[in-house]
Amino acid sequence: MRNIEIDQFSGFCFGVVNAIRKVEDKLQESDSFYCLGDIVHNTIEVERLRNKGLKTLTHEEMAQLHNTSVLFRAHGEPPSTYELAKQNHIEVIDATCPVVLNLQKRIKRIYEERKDEQIQLLIFGKSGHAEVNGLVGQTNNTAIVIEKKEDLDKLDFGKAIVMFSQTTKSKAAYMELVEMIQARIERPELFEYHNTICQQFGNRMPKIKEFASTHDCIIFVSDAKSSNGKALFKACEEVNPASHFVSGPQDVEAAWIEGKNNIGICGATSTPAWLMEQVKDKIAQL
Ligand code: SF4
Repeated sequence: MRNIEIDQFSGFCFGVVNAIRKVEDKLQESDSFYCLGDIVHNTIEVERLRNKGLKTLTHEEMAQLHNTSVLFRAHGEPPSTYELAKQNHIEVIDATCPVVLNLQKRIKRIYEERKDEQIQLLIFGKSGHAEVNGLVGQTNNTAIVIEKKEDLDKLDFGKAIVMFSQTTKSKAAYMELVEMIQARIERPELFEYHNTICQQFGNRMPKIKEFASTHDCIIFVSDAKSSNGKALFKACEEVNPASHFVSGPQDVEAAWIEGKNNIGICGATSTPAWLMEQVKDKIAQL
């Protein structure tokens, strides 16, 4: 008898659940509603909400709107977007995740307190990612985004450095950068770092590795655009080479599950539970 199990820790984190709940509440009150950027990095979920009336805006499109309501998603926005909303008399339905909001406040406080010292404020994250844009915006766009170790060459190791992380980065990669800075900084007291990786996300790494290592085969469900999806899939592959990435049931190949009796299904923090259920049904049919 084949066992097909969905990982109980996979799927939307509370930040995304909260944002989607706000959208669904609004769509019950009216036929259409605006969200700035994709509500979640999952095309299929975005499509489901679009069919209910959700309209996704770019920043340029929002600049053309007046006297309406717009939801800011869990990733958060820089102060300039709030200013734009105010100028255009747009009501902000703010679904910024509390974890991200707290990080924005910490970065802003350090920036305000120490800007006269000309500190180098670093954010380990993906340049251009919505959350990172929101964080950089707290520093009047002066923060330096570090994507990889080569980016450290831009720094002046004779001056103070304060480092934060985007909430969905790998702790191991962050700590590797911390050690590299510690090795290069001229005086240890010049360097300060804050581990600001989200616990909801950080806890998923060990949990998903445990899940992947206890199944014969892993079907990982995520949108290719999701950065935490990429990181979590990599973690599955590390412990179980029979791990396969799919965006939905249509991508599942029969050959992957042939002879496998204990199949695990898991996904990113942006993967809807209903999509993992559909993948489970497809595997059962195969
Ligand atoms: S991963 Fe963490 S910080 Fe990001 S939206 Fe989810 S709960 Fe919030």
